[in-house]
Amino acid sequence: MNPGHGRHFLQIPGPTNVPERVSLAMARAVVDHRGAGFPELTLRIFGNLRKVFATDNPVLMFPSSGTGAWEAALVNTLSPGDRVLAFETGHFSTLWKEVAQKLDLDVVWVEGDWRRGIDPQLVEDRLREDSGIAAVLAMHNETSTGVTSDIAAVRAAMDACGHSALLLVDAISSLACAPLPMDDWGIDVVISGSQKGLMLPPGLGFNAVGPRALERASHSTSRNAYWNWQAMLDNNRQGYFPYTPATTLLYGLDEALKMLLEEGMENVFARHARHAAATRAAVAAWGLDNVCVNEHEYSNSTTAILLPEGRDADLLRKIVLERFNMSLGTGLGKLKGRCFRIGHLGNFNDLMLAGTLSGVEMGLELAGAPHGKGGINAALKFLAATATNPNN
Ligand code: PLP
Repeated sequence: MNPGHGRHFLQIPGPTNVPERVSLAMARAVVDHRGAGFPELTLRIFGNLRKVFATDNPVLMFPSSGTGAWEAALVNTLSPGDRVLAFETGHFSTLWKEVAQKLDLDVVWVEGDWRRGIDPQLVEDRLREDSGIAAVLAMHNETSTGVTSDIAAVRAAMDACGHSALLLVDAISSLACAPLPMDDWGIDVVISGSQKGLMLPPGLGFNAVGPRALERASHSTSRNAYWNWQAMLDNNRQGYFPYTPATTLLYGLDEALKMLLEEGMENVFARHARHAAATRAAVAAWGLDNVCVNEHEYSNSTTAILLPEGRDADLLRKIVLERFNMSLGTGLGKLKGRCFRIGHLGNFNDLMLAGTLSGVEMGLELAGAPHGKGGINAALKFLAATATNPNN
């Protein structure tokens, strides 16, 4: 067993590593969330959240995980019996579908092979067949497979047939990792969570809410209390919440948003894209298959890697954890044991990636998994060739 010296490498695709600046910001006394000083913090957070979500719309937050944020989006915009169109891109889209079904929504489910994103042509075809669909549920980055769907193309497909369905997008593992300009792409609700690109511990769920979604919410007959948008909006306007917020996480969020905006969102996206490309350079040299088969759908935040048939990816993960004190993401659902996932998102830099890939390469060796040599070298070469001076 690893004695645990040095830092644990948390390279799952979320929760991600929390920066020291954020940890220190959270190491403060809890204050009165109904006190006169609280809005100074929260109104600044709401303003900065809008910048990170690339929207002029309100961004609501709940003390919840991402699953809660899914539910919030569904119970506010839709009513029991409403038909929604959803696409099987992997484990998380499947879970979201199940949440929708439990809420008595009628899900039109388009099956997929877990190696590709949403096919915009299928979006258009299904919508043309069915004018009664109330919403399209789209997974931006499918964390279980490392496949990012083209949401602009999904929007274009919806517009091509002039359909009035709402577009609800899960950006839980893509917010602050890959571009998703809510207003420019005509997204009605963006759903996210704190524990990935936002570099916070788990515990906050987000709904960025566009005007069409708000209008639909006024007609929804779904029962909701905790998730009610209107109560949240009414309180947020003054910088307050309808119930006790996760005060400590708000301190951290305030700092994390400052960090992202200081770096600049374009730079944040470029950093993620570069680390993802370096990771793929290693995977190619190892001769292993990326779960994602379409190079236009590679994820900025996650790379899911298949082991050769008959090899147990969870054994590799166990070896890497025990010998090198690093957590890699497990295969989920039908990919259990077949793949492992590297999270390269959030608070992450070149040497963290170099360490991560070193752990994987040594793990492959120790697990006796057939692989080509030179993965780390390929990644380091790429990183050195594309390194820029952050002060430039
Ligand atoms: N959606 C995506 C894309 C995710 O990656 C996750 C979790 O990893 C979820 C939804 C569910 O979020 P949570 O586990 O925070 O409830």
